[in-house]
Amino acid sequence: MKKLTALMLAAIMLLSLTAAMAQEAEAPKAKYVFFFVGDGMGSPQTTATRYYVGTQQNPDSPYPMPAKLVFDEFKYTGLMTTYDASSFAPDSASTASSMASGAKTLSGVINYDVNKEKQFKLVSEYAKEAGMKVGVISSVSIDHATPAAFYSKVPSRNQYYDISVQGLTGTTLDFLGGGGYKRPDGEKDTPSQNLFEIAKENGWNYVNDNEGIRAITESGRTLAIVPDKGDSDSMQYEIDRLAKVAAGEDSLSLADITAAAIRNLENDNGFFLMVEGGKIDWTCHANDATTAIYDTLAFEDAVKEAVAFAEKHPEETLIVVTGDHETGGLTIGFATTAYDTHFQYLQSQKMSYVKLDEQIAKMREEKTNFEDAMAIVAQHFGLTLEEGQDLTLTAKEREALQRAYELSMLPAAQRIIGEQEAFLYGGYEPFSMAITHALNNKAGLAYTSFAHTGLQLPVYANGTGADNFSGSYDNTDIFYGFMNAMGLEVNEEIPALAAK
Ligand SMILES: [Zn+2]
Repeated sequence: MKKLTALMLAAIMLLSLTAAMAQEAEAPKAKYVFFFVGDGMGSPQTTATRYYVGTQQNPDSPYPMPAKLVFDEFKYTGLMTTYDASSFAPDSASTASSMASGAKTLSGVINYDVNKEKQFKLVSEYAKEAGMKVGVISSVSIDHATPAAFYSKVPSRNQYYDISVQGLTGTTLDFLGGGGYKRPDGEKDTPSQNLFEIAKENGWNYVNDNEGIRAITESGRTLAIVPDKGDSDSMQYEIDRLAKVAAGEDSLSLADITAAAIRNLENDNGFFLMVEGGKIDWTCHANDATTAIYDTLAFEDAVKEAVAFAEKHPEETLIVVTGDHETGGLTIGFATTAYDTHFQYLQSQKMSYVKLDEQIAKMREEKTNFEDAMAIVAQHFGLTLEEGQDLTLTAKEREALQRAYELSMLPAAQRIIGEQEAFLYGGYEPFSMAITHALNNKAGLAYTSFAHTGLQLPVYANGTGADNFSGSYDNTDIFYGFMNAMGLEVNEEIPALAAK
């Protein structure tokens, strides 16, 4: 009797073990994984974008009608803390490292612990070990902190050349695309081998023309850099790119690069693709809300490429969309507009602050007087000295603009920047800042900072394993979410936060 019970017990155990194994084998795993990171994109940036588009689509509506962004349709949402080992307002290096590796580190550090000794193992490396292909895309330079955190490990984010060499000579990446390289020939004081030579030696297929990038297929390791560059080796701001396209010029979008990466990476073993909308951050540093909205829309267009892919592979695709930290302390609502917002005013803006800076440089050179300068401002931003218009400047606004204009007309070396000027202009072109601040405020928007803030960020997830991204958690949990969704096991110790 006793023997029989033991036998039965063993049989039951075997049965339940087999059942558990079968269940595990049946659990769907994410095979095509997309991770979209809007740099500096928090809830204020997406909220402003929803209202901007909603206002544009429903100009006569008596009440606010926010539009839905494509990731608002995703099944799961989460809320993520973003602090790092240096600050509650972290930088891109530490936050991207945390999401890529599951570990916290200091601002400025990419995939090293707080003592700058131990390296982290990345979700992209785990994906690669599992036989998947790996791609990284950014609208800023591809050696910038956020993309770098998915293929490199350096004690300082400023080691642009080292980052680039690791990407090209390492085994993690199959596709790298978007903006260019900041240091193609080595750091300034230490000239080194040209990166495109290194790419060639390491079997990369380098494509840098629009037609070539549009024609990219599954043809091996591919480095795709857009020919039309904006500031600091990045892609153009979307507002400026669209102006070029409207004028008949050809310029690729973040969505075009994303589509090229999907064609290149698609294979039977799956892929992990990280896409960064990097300039949402840059324009929010400069407090240019309209340009941030356009870049959020460019980012959303890139997400649409993944959504279209997921429709063809619904049982195997995971899409996660989030930011790395909020930038600028943007909010909806301003002291002078009280409970009103006027998002339609932002439609008057026709160029980014970077293009405006170029106009101001020209004004400085040509010694343009204030009235003529304001005529140029009216043309591109709608703000006017003429009475009775929607965007007529108040006496106080006019005074603020004139003071900034006078400072901007001086060569940079002759400007006296005190506490007040630093508060108002944050190191940017004073007249540009006064103009974007005036337009933001008239629309009912305002920024509190020229730097990053400590807001929690929304996370949107859809598809296979998306339930791993539901709830309230820390940015290090993004790593575990992907590992679970892909059915991969952590096989290296994740360094704890404590410094020496
Ligand atoms: Zn960032």
